This record gives sequence, structure tokens and C-alpha cells, in this order.
Amino acid sequence: MTGRCVSGGRVHVVGAGLAGLSAALATMQRGMPVTVHEAGPAAGGRCRSYFDREIGLVIDNGNHLLLSGNRAAFAYLEAIGAADTLGGPPKPLFPFMDLRSGERWTLRPNRGRLPWWILARSRRVPGTGAGDYLSLLALRRITDDRSVAEALRPGLLCDRLIAPLAIAALNTPPGNGLARLLGAVVRETLMQGGAACLPRFPRDSLAASLIDPAVAALRARGAELRFSRRVGALAIEADRVIALHVPDGTVALGRDDAVILAVPPWIATALLTGLTAPVAFEAILNIHFRIDADPGPAGFIGLVGGIAEWVFVKPGHVSVTISAANRMVDRPAESIAAAVWPDVRAALRLPLTAPGAMPPWRVVKERRATFAATASQDRLRPGPRTGLRNLALAGDWTQTGLPATIEGAIRSGRRAAELLLAS
Ligand SMILES: Cc1cc2nc3c(=O)[nH]c(=O)nc-3n(C[C@H](O)[C@H](O)[C@H](O)COP(=O)(O)OP(=O)(O)OC[C@H]3O[C@@H](n4cnc5c(N)ncnc54)[C@H](O)[C@@H]3O)c2cc1C
Repeated sequence: MTGRCVSGGRVHVVGAGLAGLSAALATMQRGMPVTVHEAGPAAGGRCRSYFDREIGLVIDNGNHLLLSGNRAAFAYLEAIGAADTLGGPPKPLFPFMDLRSGERWTLRPNRGRLPWWILARSRRVPGTGAGDYLSLLALRRITDDRSVAEALRPGLLCDRLIAPLAIAALNTPPGNGLARLLGAVVRETLMQGGAACLPRFPRDSLAASLIDPAVAALRARGAELRFSRRVGALAIEADRVIALHVPDGTVALGRDDAVILAVPPWIATALLTGLTAPVAFEAILNIHFRIDADPGPAGFIGLVGGIAEWVFVKPGHVSVTISAANRMVDRPAESIAAAVWPDVRAALRLPLTAPGAMPPWRVVKERRATFAATASQDRLRPGPRTGLRNLALAGDWTQTGLPATIEGAIRSGRRAAELLLAS
């Protein structure tokens, strides 16, 4: 693919998840007209919110956590005027509880780059020594295919911090989660000092922070957004895409038009013959309970030694995340909610409920939440370039050097736009 293929043309973005929205914004920022084609009735993809009748509230498909070191994500939020819609503690703090022992602690990195916090017993994981944290330093230099479990010394730090972080960041069990992808996250956040580790999450909903303002910003700049419009095929001639097949006909592309394909990998490979992409995925479960609870100092708590992994306290409800959840995604929703409820009660110090009694709940199962962040899947991730000169790829599953995250998705969209528009 050569640059400048769209000078004077229009960019068609297929898919309005974060990668597609970011690609559309980056394209418009360079003065190019954009049409977004989205199969679903609304934008957001795997990062969406909806009104749930069981709970009686707007809920997110899953808790999404950002860290202040996610530079592309925060630039995107600034660009769409939504930076002030995120909440989170004023300091970098991560409360944890071990459900087996009842022990509680708060990890509190200091703001600056010099990590003196690891010398302060009260700021680190109980039972760990300052020397244990060298393994975190080692993580960021890993370039081979070792798994997280292979790369780290077993011990309390691993059990109580690194394994929970790895599972959350990679959505893959430490036994085969790729250490260097976790290293990339650590390098861009923890290793930059506490100021890059402020936990941030939408105050109201994912849609209100990350999606609706982007759609509004795109519309305000003149973008055309077409929902419920699944692109069923790309018509290709020589080295160019010449048309998109959509349910109501064909969208013909002009000579200078280009396409950014920002769909999930299983759709991208169906649309583009010969493309390789990850084929193994991990589920994420989110279990929402309609209760009011004290959000505590951070608004969330990390749990070890139970089934629930992270509990977020939101307005009118509490939401639990279980990552790398292929092992339990096929269990009936009721049994998942019942298994998680005692962990939530313990974590939030809620009063005992009668056996079998739970507040209204909803289990959201995202079966293909992210690609499995293993060495074999990472090798299948393509870059943004294709063999076609007016087609670029975007998505959290493309080769971003990061695991499948908001940060990766947003970067990939921007990169695809830059590639097509490069002069
Ligand atoms: C439950 C859950 C929790 C998560 N938690 C976090 C977190 O805490 N922190 C974090 O950083 N990341 C998190 N993630 C990951 C993050 O949500 C994703 O990395 C990101 O949303 C992926 O965006 P995307 O645009 O690459 O893909 P998608 O969101 O999958 O977007 C692809 C879009 O393409 C559309 N599409 C598909 N086929 C077609 C077609 N033929 N024509 C037109 N459109 C089509 C889809 O409808 C979709 O809107 C989480 C993900 C899940 C599921």
C-alpha cells in the first residue's frame, strides 16, 4: 500500500467500535470526509451500554478500566470533549482483599517515576519485600515468548498482584498469557510512576464517556454514520477495493476513496481472503447486582482467592468482572451469579442475605471478549497494511504491541488513518 491514496477522496470506515471511531476521528482531523458503516444498531462494539430491564438501569457490557498512562485513550477523550466524564481516585491506589484470609491492603504507588513506594511496607502488598518488585522491572524487558508464569518467580507478589494484573490486562491465564504483552502495559503505566497509574473509569456509562461523544463529534464535523449496515463483502479489482456490498445495495468507491476495516478478526478474515488473524479467544463475564454500596476510596476493589476478580461500585449497582473466563462461560447464568454473590458481600461488607437470596442481577457473557494473548495468537496479528493500496486494518487484535485493550484499539484506528493519509 502506498500513501496518499485518498487525497481528495472519502474514507469508508467499516465498524464503529473504538478502533473505527478513532480511525474516523483521525481521518476527519486531517480534513478528509468519512462514512462509517456499522452492522449493529449503535456504535460501541465490545464497549457498549444499554438499558437492562432486569436491573432497571443502564449497565455496561463490562467494566472497563483505563490508567492515566493510556495516552492515546486520553487524547481521544480530549478530542471528543469527554475527558471530564471519567471518575476515579485522586491518587494512584488499588484496594485489594484476599477472600480466603479476609486480609485487606491498598497498593499505593507514589506519583513520581522513582518508585520509592516499594520501600514502604504500608504501600506494597503485605508479605512481600522490596526485592520482589524487581520482577516487575524484569517484565518490561522481556522480548521472547515466555508466559507470565514462566517469566515470574512464584510467591505472594505473583499471587496477590501480578497474576490478577496479568489476568485483567491480558484476559488470558498466566500459564499461557504472553509476558511481553504484560511488560508493554507495565512499561507504559507502572514504570512511568504513579502519575501514569491513576485508575480511571466512566462515571456514568461506557457509552456516555467513550462512544456517544465520539459519535456526536463525528457528526458535528460532517461525518456520515450508517447504523444497521453490515458490510457483507468487499469488491476488489487489481490492487484496490472498488466497492462495499451492503444490505441495500453497493457502495461504489471512487478512485481516491479508501477503506479502513475495523471489524473483529473473524469478520475481517471472512471479508479479506488470505488475511491471518487470531483464532482463539477468551471470554469475560460481568455480573451486575442492583444494590447501593459504599464505593470506598477507589470505587473498586480487586479480589484474590475467590471467583469474583474485580468489583466496581457504580450508581445504583455493583458490577463484578471475571476475566479469562472460558473455564466458566458455559455455566448457567444463575449459578454464576450465585457463586459470585458471597464474594461481593464479603468485599463490600454487605449484610448477610438469606441462603439463595440475591438482589436483582444480570450476567453478561462476552464469549469472544478478546483474542487469547498467547504467543501463537500474537504471531497471527497483522499490521495495518494489506496488499491493497486503499485498504488498511484496525482493531485491538491487529499488531499494536499491546494486549486487546481500549488503548490498543484507539491507537490502531489512528495508525490506520495515518497510513492511508500519509503523504
Ligand atoms: C467485557 C469486556 C471488558 C473489557 N475491559 C477492558 C478494560 O478494562 N480495559 C481495556 O482497555 N479494555 C477492555 N476491554 C477491551 C476493549 O473493550 C476492546 O479492546 C475494544 O472495545 C475493541 O474495540 P475494536 O473497535 O477493536 O473492536 P469492536 O468493539 O469489536 O468493534 C468492531 C465493530 O465492528 C462492527 N462490525 C462487525 N462486522 C461488521 C460488518 N460486517 N460491517 C460493519 N460493521 C461490522 C461490530 O458491530 C463492532 O461495532 C474489555 C472488553 C470486554 C468485552
